[in-house]
Amino acid sequence: MTRIVYVNGRYVPYADAAVHVEDRGFQFADAIYEVCEVRDGSLIDEARHMARLERSLAELQIRRPMTAAALGHVMRQVIRRNRVRDGLVYLQVSRGAAPRDFSFPGPDVPPTVVCLAQSISAAHRDLKALSGIAVKSMPDIRWQRRDIKTVMLLPACLAKEAARKDGAREAWFVDAEGFVTEGASSNAWIIDQGGAVITRQLGLDILPGVTRATLLDVLAEEKMQLIERPFLLSEAYAAREAFITSATQTVMPVVRIDGRPVGDGRPGPVAAKLRQKFHHFAAISSA
Ligand code: PMP
Repeated sequence: MTRIVYVNGRYVPYADAAVHVEDRGFQFADAIYEVCEVRDGSLIDEARHMARLERSLAELQIRRPMTAAALGHVMRQVIRRNRVRDGLVYLQVSRGAAPRDFSFPGPDVPPTVVCLAQSISAAHRDLKALSGIAVKSMPDIRWQRRDIKTVMLLPACLAKEAARKDGAREAWFVDAEGFVTEGASSNAWIIDQGGAVITRQLGLDILPGVTRATLLDVLAEEKMQLIERPFLLSEAYAAREAFITSATQTVMPVVRIDGRPVGDGRPGPVAAKLRQKFHHFAAISSA
């Protein structure tokens, strides 16, 4: 089956899908994106993803290419045309293609819109969660507006590659004071010895994760103690449990940090429970 990609109003075969060499996403990372989970043929938390996309566009003054409903239509078409039941849908909007110039192009330059879908086995993801993942800490060298979901992901690529070389699946960024900010492509959480769930509060220094937001609903409903504050890497080493959240991994237990076991080195019961409850609280819309 040929993979189909949406590019600027057209659904084209993967091999033919291309944007201009002077696209500002390519030249300046002047672009934003969203990744939504597709599960059982449904889109997960679409409204929250769309709200964040619109916020990212507004923060960077990129013109909104179409309504959220129209973008939803594009995502559904790409999911259907690629027959994705479980996986993800990726949507990117750049400021468009124009002769290279740092200042923004005129209003006649339309934003570039690209949408791809990819199948990922749900069984494979669930299997991974049974063993958990290792993470490696790295200095957070990113810019100061990490709340905007831009494609400026080079620090994340460098961190994840270093993690991979150390046998870890994710990198945890650490700020100058020794506090964990978030994962290279996930939010970071720990559960302390008293059972409190701790994650950094929202601000300019982390992405407001959609999975994070939905998990806060789960925690409230389950009446679990939540503390939104920065936590030290040393607190993470001493935690009872740790986990990450992201749209494609939902709740993924962390069993090793910098080679040290978290708790007994196996996925903890709380992370497992939160993972299991997650989709009862996520908004599900048919794809
Ligand atoms: N932080 C960063 C830096 C990310 O790239 C991601 C994944 N997009 C997240 C957090 C998690 O966000 P979400 O739950 O919306 O996928």
